[in-house]
Order: sequence, then structure tokens, then C-alpha cells
Amino acid sequence: MTATIIDGKAHALALRTRIASHVANFRAAAGRAPGLAVVLVGEDPASAVYVRNKGKATRDAGMESFEHRLPADTDAATLLALVAQLNADPAVDGILVQLPLPAHIDAGAVLLAIDPDKDVDGFHPVNAGRLAIGADGFVPCTPLGCLMLLQDLHPSLSGMEAVVVGRSNIVGKPMAQLLLQQSCTVTIVHSRTRDVAAHLRRADIVVAAVGIPHFIQGDWIKPGASVIDVGINRTDTGLVGDVDFAAARAVAGAITPVPGGVGPMTIACLIRNTYVSACRREGIEAAL
Ligand code: NDP
Repeated sequence: MTATIIDGKAHALALRTRIASHVANFRAAAGRAPGLAVVLVGEDPASAVYVRNKGKATRDAGMESFEHRLPADTDAATLLALVAQLNADPAVDGILVQLPLPAHIDAGAVLLAIDPDKDVDGFHPVNAGRLAIGADGFVPCTPLGCLMLLQDLHPSLSGMEAVVVGRSNIVGKPMAQLLLQQSCTVTIVHSRTRDVAAHLRRADIVVAAVGIPHFIQGDWIKPGASVIDVGINRTDTGLVGDVDFAAARAVAGAITPVPGGVGPMTIACLIRNTYVSACRREGIEAAL
């Protein structure tokens, strides 16, 4: 068997195009565009690329992009004052502070200062809590994008065995919550798990968010499984995922490539969350 390659770029383009058409209706109804504020502190080159891409995607969707670039030696008080100003700004529906922040700033305190109802990254503890109890909030963009790719493959995920590799707050834990909400039987494996391969061999769905190139071997995959590779690892041979793609492809039913799989969905979901936030704030029903 050779797995279907899940085209994340095509899915992301379709989602962004759909949101752009909803945004046009929102603008007509609300008399303004949804707005996303992105804050970048310092000159980390990878972060600068992410911020540029997010700004472009925001404008392409017909939304307003507010970009704030602060020098690397910005103190916490200045950053917190900017967050407070964005919280109060009625033109801003979403606030994203690009991570990582310079070491002298407590990132947790900054994320906590963002109004949870503008937290389109879904990193605020209030939104983590909302996700855990199934209340409306914002779900982190990467796991949300993974779920959308899985739902396209499997209209019902109910009863499926899902194994999430990794337990970070931004990918692994919210991914597990989302799959649980879809009535999967969810296992989370991590660096202290005794036999990662044994868990994976039972999985109908694998979501890999480890950060180790080609960590997941082909013979750990159950034949026909759906494999979502979140990993982005820079190696001498270029960007690779957390799954040994060539080996897993021979066994899986469907698999995301790296690049071109989960990555493009992350930005598309940020656009989606910003549109949803704008609708909530204007009392307009979001068309999704
Ligand atoms: P973290 O480093 O925060 O988490 C990695 C997780 O992997 C931890 O829970 C860790 O376990 C687990 N882990 C480490 N080693 C092993 C092992 N030997 N066996 C089993 N589990 C292990 O990473 P993130 O969640 O932030 O990111 C994961 C990957 O996804 C990275 O490659 C990152 O670049 C990528 N990423 C991609 C995004 C996208 O848009 N496509 C967005 C965000 C991330 P423990 O908790 O025990 O230490």
C-alpha cells in the first residue's frame, strides 16, 4: 500500500479562500475589516519570516494587519503596555505575540495579559480551560489545522484509536483534547513513555509533535493509519518531519508531507480564528 499524500497547501488555500469570502460579507455587515495585531520583539530571522507570512495572509484575506516590531532590548513593561493598548483597541480582534520572546521577558506573563477573547493563538490559560471543558474559545492553530485535515479524511473520528506523540501546551495537549472531543480513544506518549512503538502500532490516527527528525519509524505505523506530522526540523538535507516519511508512506493510509502538510494549515487557522473573533465581537454569526 502507498499512502495518500495529504496536500496541506491545497487545504489551506481552500480554507483561506473561504474565509476571504466570509470576510467580504463581514465587512459589508460591520462596516469595518477584522483586524489582527502581530507583535514581534527582536530580530530572530525565523520569527521575522513567520510574522511577514502572517501579515500577508491577513491582508490577502481582506483583513487589517497591525504589525508592531519592537527592539530586542524592549523591557517587559513596554511590551505589557502595548498588549494593554491592543486589548483596548476596538479595531483589533486578534492579538498574537510571536514566540519565542527574548530571555529577559517572562513569556507566560505576556500571554496572560492578552484578553482571552482576542487570544487567536489560543495560548491563554482561559482558552486552554475552555477547550478542556468544551466551551467556546480559541483553539491553538496548529492542532486545529491537524484536526481539519483528519476530518477531511474521516467525516467521523468517533471510536478511533488516536496517539499523539508530544505533550506541549501548544500542540500535543490541545491536539489530544480536540481528538477526545471527537470521541477518539486518545493516548498521549512523551519522552518518559516506556514503549512508544507499541502504542503507535495500535493507532488509527498518529499525530507527531516531537521535534526529532524522522523519530517515528515505518514499522511503528499500523497499516492504513492516518499520519499527521507536525514536526519541522531543519537538517543538512533540508526541512524534515518527525516521521520517517518514505518508510511510513509505504504502510500508512494517508500522510502529511513536510513541508507542505500541517505548516500551511497553521496560518490558515489563524486567519479563521481572527475572523471568528471579529464575528463574536460584532455579534455576527460566523459562517464556517
Ligand atoms: P516541544 O519541544 O515543546 O515538545 C516536544 C514533545 O515531544 C514533548 O512533550 C516531549 O516529551 C516529546 N518527546 C521528546 N522526545 C521524545 C521521545 N524520545 N519519545 C517520545 N516523546 C518525546 O515541541 P512542540 O510541541 O512545540 O513542537 C513539536 C514539533 O512541531 C517541533 O518540530 C516544532 O518545530 C513543530 N511545530 C510545527 C508547527 C507547524 O506549524 N507545523 C507549529 C508548532 C510546532 P516531554 O514532555 O516528556 O519532554
